[in-house]
Amino acid sequence: MENLEKAIAEIKARMPGLRLKENEPMAEHSSFRIGGPVRALAIPSDVMGLTKLCAILKEHELAPFLLGNGTNILFPDEGLPELFIISTERLTKLFLLPDGAVYAEAGVSLAKLAGFAQQNGLTGLEFASGIPGSLGGGCVMNAGAYGGELKDAIESVVCYYLPEQRLYELTKEQCRFGYRSSLFQNLGGCVILSAVLRLEKGDGEEIAEKMKELNRRRREKQPLDLPSAGSAFKRPEGQYAAALIEQAGLKGYAVGGAQVSEKHAGFVVNTGGATSHDVYELMVHIRKTVYEKTGAKLEPEVILLPPDYRLEDHGPAAPGHRVSGPETE
Ligand SMILES: Cc1cc2nc3c(=O)[nH]c(=O)nc-3n(C[C@H](O)[C@H](O)[C@H](O)COP(=O)(O)OP(=O)(O)OC[C@H]3O[C@@H](n4cnc5c(N)ncnc54)[C@H](O)[C@@H]3O)c2cc1C
Repeated sequence: MENLEKAIAEIKARMPGLRLKENEPMAEHSSFRIGGPVRALAIPSDVMGLTKLCAILKEHELAPFLLGNGTNILFPDEGLPELFIISTERLTKLFLLPDGAVYAEAGVSLAKLAGFAQQNGLTGLEFASGIPGSLGGGCVMNAGAYGGELKDAIESVVCYYLPEQRLYELTKEQCRFGYRSSLFQNLGGCVILSAVLRLEKGDGEEIAEKMKELNRRRREKQPLDLPSAGSAFKRPEGQYAAALIEQAGLKGYAVGGAQVSEKHAGFVVNTGGATSHDVYELMVHIRKTVYEKTGAKLEPEVILLPPDYRLEDHGPAAPGHRVSGPETE
């Protein structure tokens, strides 16, 4: 804590123009609309500012937590008083390179990136136009939908490796993308700054039509009217998490304000006033029930904070806890 306070004082002195929010409630930065305050949230205006911030934090033996659009994270209600968050929301450079590849900074939204590709007659990112994340978060998660994954379009990623305070340009292979996974999840300390995407030439109108159709399907199937973080669990191999949860009788099951969506059982939604503990308990319950009833093990897709939180360390919802839903009615 002492280091953090010293680092914040130094950041204020050395970076007076930096947008720095102290004791910032994370509910305002998370698509779940859940989460108490973090000690500080900085929003650097460019890559230089971001790396300078990282360097100052490193001098104080601190590592920041990187925030994209906050569409795949659950922040705890009690806040994270020891966390310094850096948001990439202002890293939004996006242009075509002379050889036709697309260069984008980490904070560019996937929707904007897909729209840019369409406007330039480039196909391969239609699947991403409805994913509400940023390119940086998308690379960490290897975001995907409707048969496409970000890894199919990525040629290389530039990241700032905190332990060495060095920039690396990683090829797609070096990023070790897998289903909703990447090197960046397993190797701490990589701050994604930008990526180059290689796309095929296509017909602008056809690309726009495909994006429209995929977004229509998304609106039809997903509970986009309620706060969530998308799919709560990853797909176990050869199976669908939503189908398993439904099979376990949990569609509509709720803990406090957190509910297994009635529209799409793969989503945990905030029906109003959900706490992070409601969501944790619901996820623990889903995982346990699905395992008991189907034998399948579900792993969370949502990043759960604090970083050492593991669903498997927690039992099912305690008897008498505010639990409602089909099974308890
Ligand atoms: C309604 C809804 C629908 C969704 N649909 C899909 C879908 O179809 N497919 C899919 O894959 N996902 C989906 N998601 C989940 C989410 O949008 C994706 O996982 C997305 O890639 C997360 O991006 P983000 O910018 O919001 O990342 P965040 O949620 O901000 O961060 C996710 C992780 O990435 C890290 N991170 C973010 N930026 C950086 C960076 N620059 N450098 C290093 N680490 C970083 C964070 O620390 C965190 O660990 C959906 C979510 C919602 C709410």
